[in-house]
Amino acid sequence: MTRPVRIKGIAASVGIGVGPARLSSREQRALTYRRISDGEIGDEVRSFQHAVAASRDEIELAKQELIQQHGSAYAPILDVYLLMHTDALLIDAIVDEIRGDKINASWALGRVVERLKAPLLDDASSYFRERARDIDHVKEHLLRHLSGTGRGESPASHPTILVAHDLTPADAVHLLAPPTVGLVTEMGGANSHTAILARTFGVPAVVGTGPLPVVVEQDEMVIVDGFSGDVTIGAPPKEQRVAAERRDRFFSFLESERTTNAVTRDGISISVAANIELPSEVEAAIENGAEGIGLYRTEFMCLDRSEPPSEEEQVELYRTVVTAVAPKTVIFRTFDWRGDKRLQSDRLAERQHDWLKTQIRAVLRASTGGSVALMFPMVATLDELANARSLVEDCRGELEDDSARLAALPVGMMVEVPAAALLAEQFAASADFFAVGTNDLVQYTLGVDRRDHRTAGSPLDPAVLRLLDQTIVAATNTDTPCSMCGDMAADPIGLGLALGLGYRKVSVPASVVPLARAVIRNVDLATATEAARAALDCKSAKEVRDLALDRFGNELGALWRKHGIV
Ligand code: PEP
Ligand code: MG
Repeated sequence: MTRPVRIKGIAASVGIGVGPARLSSREQRALTYRRISDGEIGDEVRSFQHAVAASRDEIELAKQELIQQHGSAYAPILDVYLLMHTDALLIDAIVDEIRGDKINASWALGRVVERLKAPLLDDASSYFRERARDIDHVKEHLLRHLSGTGRGESPASHPTILVAHDLTPADAVHLLAPPTVGLVTEMGGANSHTAILARTFGVPAVVGTGPLPVVVEQDEMVIVDGFSGDVTIGAPPKEQRVAAERRDRFFSFLESERTTNAVTRDGISISVAANIELPSEVEAAIENGAEGIGLYRTEFMCLDRSEPPSEEEQVELYRTVVTAVAPKTVIFRTFDWRGDKRLQSDRLAERQHDWLKTQIRAVLRASTGGSVALMFPMVATLDELANARSLVEDCRGELEDDSARLAALPVGMMVEVPAAALLAEQFAASADFFAVGTNDLVQYTLGVDRRDHRTAGSPLDPAVLRLLDQTIVAATNTDTPCSMCGDMAADPIGLGLALGLGYRKVSVPASVVPLARAVIRNVDLATATEAARAALDCKSAKEVRDLALDRFGNELGALWRKHGIV
C-alpha cells in the first residue's frame, strides 16, 4: 500500500511521538495442538510447571524494575499477573486438562483461558473486558516460556515507536522505558494497564487501532498523535518535521505552564483539578499545580485483584493521597463497576454492597487527614441518591473512632446519565455537589458505545450541550458546586464551550492540567458565553465545532495551531 497510511485509534497518552517503528516480535504466538500418550503426561505437566515458574520470575523481575524506576505505587499493577500464576482456576485447571484429556500444555492453556474469559467478555463493561485481556496476557507469557523463547525482547537502544499487536504490562515496563518515544497497539483501551503505564512513563500512545491495514516495516517512520489518536505510517519528511516541532513545542509548553494561574482574559478564576486512577498519579497532579483531585477513579485499585483491598489497606492508601493533596480536596468516587449492573447475580450484587460499605468506611476514616469529599457514579434516580446518602450514614454509625464518625464529608454525585441532568434541580436538594461526566453522558444520550472509537459520539453534539446547560443552570440556581470531570473539559474546544456554558470548575487528567490552564488564560468569557449560547442552537457536533473554531479563532487560534488541533 502506498504511503503515508493514516490510522485512527484511541488516544491513550498525550504528546506526539515521531520515530522509526520498532516492531514487537511477540505477535500472536500460535498455539500448538498435540495429543499425548500416557507416558508423556508426566513430562508435559513438568514442562508446564517450569514455564509457570519462569514466567512468574520474569514478571517478578519486571515488578522490581518498575519499583526501582517509579516507586512502589505501581507494583500492584503486576501483582495481579503474579497471583494468576498460583490461581487454581487457571494453573490447576490446565494441569487437569493435560492429564484428563491427554493433550499438550499449550492446547490445555488455550482451552482454559478461553473458558475463563467467556463470561468476562459477555459483559458490556470495559472493566471486565480488560480483565479478560489480563488473562490473555498471562497466556502470552506462559506460551513464551513453554516454547522456550522466554523474555527475549530487549529494550530499545535508540528512540523508537513501539508497534505491537498487544503489549502485556510486564513487557511494557521494560519496552516503554526511555528511549522509547511512542506506542501503537492494535489491541487495548484507554483504561488498560498498559495505557496507564504509557501515561506514567510519559510515552505518547495510541491503542486499540484494530488490525493495522498494512504491514509496518521495521524502522519505517511513524507519527503517533496522543491527542487525537491518529497514527501515520510512512510519513514524508516534511510531515515528520512538522510533527517533531509540535512534539518539542508541547514539551516546552508543559514546562512553561506548570505554575501558571487559571484565570480567564477577563479575570475570572477557574478551578482546574486533576483526575487520577492510581495514587501514584498524585505526584504529577501536584507537580502540574492541580487544584486538588476532582475525580479519583477508585475502581482502578481493584484491577489487580478479584476483590477490593481490605478496609485497613484502603484507609492507608486513601490517607497517603489525602495527606499529599491537603489542604486541597480529594473527591473519591465510589467503585464504578458500570456494566456489571447488568450481571444477573444476586450474590455479586450483595458482595458489591459489602465492598461499597467497606469503601465508604475507609473514606470516612481517611477524611480526618485532610479535605475529602465522596461521590457516587451513575446516579439516575432520586431514590438511588437517597439510598446512597443513607448508606453513608449507616457507615458512620459503624465506626468506632469519633473523629471519623463525625467527619465532615460532602456527598455528591456524578451527572453522567441524561436522567440526572434532566432532574438536576431536584437532585440538587440532596446532593452536596455535582461532577459532570461527559464520557458517559455522551454514550447514554446518543446511544453510542464509548469503547468503540468508530461509533463514539461527541460531547459537542447539541443534545449533549443542552443537558450540560440544564445541569449548570440548575446547579447555579441552587448554589450547588458543579464541576466537569469528563473528557470534554480536557479538549481545548470542549473546554472553551464548557466555560461559556457557565462551568467554573473542571477536572482533567493530571497530564492535561497545564494545557487546560493555558486554554483558560486565553479565553474571554464574554466570547465563550456567546459561542456556547449559539452552539445550543446548532444542528450537529460538526456545526458546533466549526462555530467554536470561528468564534474562538482570535483568542485560541494560536494555541490550537501550536498543538495541532486545527
Ligand atoms: C465520565 O463518564 O465522564 C467520567 C468522568 O467517568 P468515567 O470516565 O470514569 O466513566
Ligand atoms: Mg462515567
